[in-house]
Amino acid sequence: MNEVIRNPQAGVSTGSLDPQDWSEFRALAHRMLDDAIDGIANVRARPVWQPIPDEVRAAIRTEVPREATDLAEVYHEFSEHVAPYATGNVHPGFMGWVHGGGTAVGMIAEMLAAGLNANLGGRDHMPIEVERQIVEWMRGLFGFPKGASGIFVTGTSMANLMAVLVARTSVLGALARQHGLGNDGALLTAYASKAAHGCISRAMDIAGFGTDALRRIDVDADHRIDVAALRAQITVDRESGFRPFLVTASAGTVDIGAIDDLRAIAELCREEGIWFHVDGAFGALAIFSPGLAPLLDGIALADSIALDFHKWGQVPYDAGFLLVRDGERHRQAFAQPAAYLSREARGLAAGTVWPCDLGPDLSRGFRALKTWFTLKTFGIERLGAVIARSCALAKYLETRVLADPRLELLAPVNLNIVCFRYRTDDAVNREIVADIQESGIAVPSGTTLDGKFAIRAAIVNHRTAETDIDALVSAVIKFGAKRTGGLIEVEAPPLATQ
Ligand SMILES: *Cc1c(COP(=O)(O)O)cnc(C)c1O
Repeated sequence: MNEVIRNPQAGVSTGSLDPQDWSEFRALAHRMLDDAIDGIANVRARPVWQPIPDEVRAAIRTEVPREATDLAEVYHEFSEHVAPYATGNVHPGFMGWVHGGGTAVGMIAEMLAAGLNANLGGRDHMPIEVERQIVEWMRGLFGFPKGASGIFVTGTSMANLMAVLVARTSVLGALARQHGLGNDGALLTAYASKAAHGCISRAMDIAGFGTDALRRIDVDADHRIDVAALRAQITVDRESGFRPFLVTASAGTVDIGAIDDLRAIAELCREEGIWFHVDGAFGALAIFSPGLAPLLDGIALADSIALDFHKWGQVPYDAGFLLVRDGERHRQAFAQPAAYLSREARGLAAGTVWPCDLGPDLSRGFRALKTWFTLKTFGIERLGAVIARSCALAKYLETRVLADPRLELLAPVNLNIVCFRYRTDDAVNREIVADIQESGIAVPSGTTLDGKFAIRAAIVNHRTAETDIDALVSAVIKFGAKRTGGLIEVEAPPLATQ
């Protein structure tokens, strides 16, 4: 139907931002691509992270660029001042926070997506079908029924916020979107464990409930929510006239990777008529691993699941995701009539549920493409094996910690996160973490567990190997001994590069 009537030679206009000389652009672009590939292929040759020198920070601070600059020059500045001082999560020695490592495949897919420059807010085009296909795959993997819906978002912070809003509309009815929370909304209470991620209380704040409306329930020794305490709090709240409407369970707490008893919470929520949401930011993708999936038993009963493909899924940032069991409830929380968003029977404005009906964003990028490439190129089995291996590496680190009298394990190792410390005080352990980060050998982070500062290693990157764990342990011992004036000097193994 669409006859191509363009002359490819025509249309060269001085007003356009296209390159004046395509072959020159092509040559430079190929070099950039080669450099970007080399950057990943040779990542071990670099420090994991390095402090930003003052000159570098100063160099980037310029007046707003009014005149044009050569692309080659801008690229040079990027290579010198930006690329070497990134977070470091591409590097196998990065274990600081729960950050994915990304892949070369994901990088290329991101470039292809930028080339299409698709807007996935709505309308009838294949990029949206790609996103819908991933929703369908996730629906199947998590055992959700037909009619479930899903959407890509920035990250799990946003997905958790959206889940609060869907649960709110579900309990108060769609009119609450018009009238606001009102007196009924003021009585709504939500529940999560004390080990839940901070974005959950922030979601309650942003959604207008206030953080006090989130009841923080005690955890057991393994950092799992105390389900009996949860039940008791719900009863107390009901007796006081509150309306419990949402429980957010954690599938992989950010501190130690604990997974709440999802089945028990599902049953409790069903009895009580409460929305059951799972924050599975990284842990939910354990569903990819047949060995780990049983830990998520009960997740199929959730009303909604938030997760990140950019963590254990190794998709480049950002690629958060929300899955909702009842797609109609999901739509009712966000869909909005607007003349410029009207749906037509045919043409580009065809199609029924558009992604803009399922979340706050209208313009949306093609996050689904890098996820689609990642899932297809590697396959769920291989990605699941990467996830299982990071748990095995955490166990290996646990073994090394337990075997060394200078080190102390501070929490059980449930999944891929190990919290430990050098046997000395909090202040010194804090210094050890910063020493190691600045050394470029590894990037651990710090957290506080039961009042004690812990060195935290979250193993997420698919490139991390035993040698990287060894390098971390040696560095902790080396800097620990140095800081405590200990006589034990342990030779650090060479950087994992050698
Ligand atoms: C990372 C994380 C979040 C926040 O996700 P973002 O993608 O950073 O917004 C929420 N919950 C848990 C358990 C996490 O690990």
